[in-house]
Amino acid sequence: MQPPPVATANQAMPSGKMASLTGVPLAWKPAPGDLPRQFASREALDDALASLFPEADAGLSPVRGGRAAAEAQLARIQPARYGKSRNFLDGAITRLSPYIRHGVLTLAEVRDAVFVRTRERASSEKLINELGWRDYWQRLWRQLGDGIWADCEPLKTGHGPERYAAALPADLGAGRTGLACMDGFIAELYATGWLHNHARLWLAAYLVHWRRIRWQVGAAWFLRHLLDGDPASNNLSWQWVASSFSHKPYIFNRANLERYSGGRYCASCALAAAGCPFEASYEELQARLFPAASV
Ligand SMILES: Cc1cc2nc3c(=O)[nH]c(=O)nc-3n(C[C@H](O)[C@H](O)[C@H](O)COP(=O)(O)OP(=O)(O)OC[C@H]3O[C@@H](n4cnc5c(N)ncnc54)[C@H](O)[C@@H]3O)c2cc1C
Repeated sequence: MQPPPVATANQAMPSGKMASLTGVPLAWKPAPGDLPRQFASREALDDALASLFPEADAGLSPVRGGRAAAEAQLARIQPARYGKSRNFLDGAITRLSPYIRHGVLTLAEVRDAVFVRTRERASSEKLINELGWRDYWQRLWRQLGDGIWADCEPLKTGHGPERYAAALPADLGAGRTGLACMDGFIAELYATGWLHNHARLWLAAYLVHWRRIRWQVGAAWFLRHLLDGDPASNNLSWQWVASSFSHKPYIFNRANLERYSGGRYCASCALAAAGCPFEASYEELQARLFPAASV
């Protein structure tokens, strides 16, 4: 078997130090197959990744890694505004998930930062609640282990599991569904590795309920692309959307998406005037998507 390309890039220097792809000496002795970790600049990191992973078509995410970036992001949180606006795509969400996911920030640090800003329950409650969800999913994962990939409960959609496709359709994978909203979310996911919670909900619901694809397919797809990709928060959220971990399937309609996205997608969507699959009341969508369900 050929060694991975990075093994040939990390060659011993006469001084005994190791060279990274960019020529900057590494501070540790790399193991075979280890990836380089030090770069002269962000451009050098981008170039190195492009040469290591030529099959990846997206460039570097604008999300910066590291403790300094995490602390700067933490300093920007606005708990009171968060509570009022978190469902809006331009709301005062924290964007801390990649740092929390990779242990750069602990949940306790975020909680303390919230309480430094406000001790008022009304102002802090919503954000503290969301931190609680992360903690809850992690604890559940410890109990369920790999069972996290199986339905926690039967679906409440009226469709048996065999009615759901087991592969990601090409148009979804390419972000070419023809729906400006869904294609916009997919493009953002690929370019940044992050999506707003509401966009995740809409995209997951579209995939599972409109396209009738197994939630596991969508969950694995998200995990491949999210910087905060975490089996607990991810899979259990997908199960909540699918209804294998909630009492009914999560769906949305165009009015909901248009309101919380500020209309930014519908304005440019070729299907806005006719053919939008989300243009209906919740009752109509319920009957259309789940005709055999008792929900
Ligand atoms: C289908 C789907 C998949 C998801 N996959 C992931 C995932 O892989 N990793 C992940 O961290 N989150 C996941 N979430 C939860 C949530 O969407 C993200 O945590 C949130 O959008 C991250 O943005 P933020 O940091 O601005 O969050 P904020 O809204 O500012 O919340 C602050 C922190 O609280 C936690 N949090 C917030 N909402 C949730 C939630 N619903 N469930 C669990 N923790 C939450 C996160 O750690 C987040 O960073 C998923 C949600 C859905 C609907």
